[in-house]
Amino acid sequence: MDKPATIKTTIAGSLPKPSWLAKPQVLWAPWQLEGEQLAEGKRDAVRAALKMQESAGIDIVGDGEQTRTHFVHGFLQGIEGVDFSKLKRIGIRADRYEADCPTVTAPVLRRKSVHGDDVRFARANTANKLKFTLPGPMTMVDTLADDYYKDRARLAFALADLLNAEAKELAAIGADTIQFDEPAFNVYLDEVRDWGIAALERAAAGLACTTAVHICYGYGIKANDDWKKTLGGQWRQYESTFPLLSKSSIKQVSLECANSHVPIELISMLKGKDVLVGAIDVASSAVETPQQVAATLREALKYVPIEHLHGCTNCGMAPMARSVAEAKLQALAAGARLLSRELAG
Ligand code: ZN
Repeated sequence: MDKPATIKTTIAGSLPKPSWLAKPQVLWAPWQLEGEQLAEGKRDAVRAALKMQESAGIDIVGDGEQTRTHFVHGFLQGIEGVDFSKLKRIGIRADRYEADCPTVTAPVLRRKSVHGDDVRFARANTANKLKFTLPGPMTMVDTLADDYYKDRARLAFALADLLNAEAKELAAIGADTIQFDEPAFNVYLDEVRDWGIAALERAAAGLACTTAVHICYGYGIKANDDWKKTLGGQWRQYESTFPLLSKSSIKQVSLECANSHVPIELISMLKGKDVLVGAIDVASSAVETPQQVAATLREALKYVPIEHLHGCTNCGMAPMARSVAEAKLQALAAGARLLSRELAG
């Protein structure tokens, strides 16, 4: 007889950095080290992040984005045509908050690998399945000042080509899953339909590994908490995007669920996809119990078959206290095990 299916676990992406590497509980905190010490510090932080996930029992692990300050600008720092000496303070995610963003001043060009060494190092330091996260084209466009393309879709497709070349290289080095982060998909619903999904598919085209997209309501920072209060009792942004994604080539969809106002039945629109259900709230330092995690996943199981359900975090954990993030990872894995055992009878 086949072994009963178990619910696998993974993380959305980022984890808190050690205090010796970057200031704790600060989003996009600058590095505390320089030069060779910084390079060594990043490697040690990746080892620690992998170990933290493995010890908790997380199945598909990532590097916790320990080598990047910012989930979009980290990739852009390796791209020509993006000028980091021309930082502009702009409103992003429909002016939800302001961020200092570099400016596109010339055609974007990727001359060499950006994260190849990061994946090589992570691959060598874990035997688990490895996921690597990249920013999605629409979210990149929305986190940039642009003096050159002057057309969001055109810039998105140009960036998608660079992401595609990078993703193919990372898969060849050993990433089992490449995930594109598209929090902007919950903001610009018309653009998602008009060109967002097409740009995402171009970024993921021809990838031999598993492909994923992460769509969320943002990190647990005040601007996002305030925005969520304006969204009403039911958050239905996914309702227009999921039918489009279900027809796309992307294999997995990571979404926010724990403590959110997302009607869980919306995930039934992702037929055939792996659904990475956020069962850990990253906007609260209250650590979930395994029973709470199991309850969230049990609810999702009404709409997604077990072999397509993964337990995940709502979003990245970068701005959280490290001890809290570690306890939440343990709860996530324990909750998934609890439910798997219960279902196996
Ligand atoms: Zn997120």
